[in-house]
Amino acid sequence: MRHTPPLQVTYQNDGTQMIPDNCTLCPLHKERTNIVIGTGDLHAAIMFVGEAPGEQEDLKGEPFVGPAGKLLDKLLHKAGLKRKDVFITNVVKCRPPGNREPTPEEIHMCSPFLRKQIQAIQPRVLVTLGRVATQRLTFQFGAMGDLLSNPNLTYTYREDAPIPVLALYHPSYLLRQGAALRGKAKPLFLDAVARLKRATEYQQVG
Ligand code: URA
Repeated sequence: MRHTPPLQVTYQNDGTQMIPDNCTLCPLHKERTNIVIGTGDLHAAIMFVGEAPGEQEDLKGEPFVGPAGKLLDKLLHKAGLKRKDVFITNVVKCRPPGNREPTPEEIHMCSPFLRKQIQAIQPRVLVTLGRVATQRLTFQFGAMGDLLSNPNLTYTYREDAPIPVLALYHPSYLLRQGAALRGKAKPLFLDAVARLKRATEYQQVG
């Protein structure tokens, strides 16, 4: 049986549980430059969860600062959101070499950190970017197209209190379809904006 070693964690004043600088829980530590913990409002109503840091993120220590991040910024802008008002993180906090998908073991070893972040921030809605994050938080294992087939918020993340999950295609996938507002990519981009606007409705609740 897999054994998760006890985690050494430090606490910031705001109570967010952070990852130790020297985390060696999974093999990703060997090639990382920086651990990418997450950025944004620690009291955000909307929390975005991507897959894993890429090259730019690894170098800067911040999530979504490369090409996918630029597209995420466009989506946020079109949905009337500002980066500083949401919280952005990833399922795994260190870059997989060559931007490969994180392995199930890497995801498993990093999961306590994401869980703690969600507990600390207590968002009203979680927005998952791409299949890895969507599957991790919803335990729905279909293809992204199937997971997105219902345009409403259909999933729930269950830990202490249930949190609705809104799934979006990963910005890197949208980028691979072409420029944001042209050709084949346009309907995908507009659909992502419409879904994101729905997420903003959760900001107002309660
Ligand atoms: N892709 C991700 O999933 N996360 C990032 O932070 C950057 C690119």
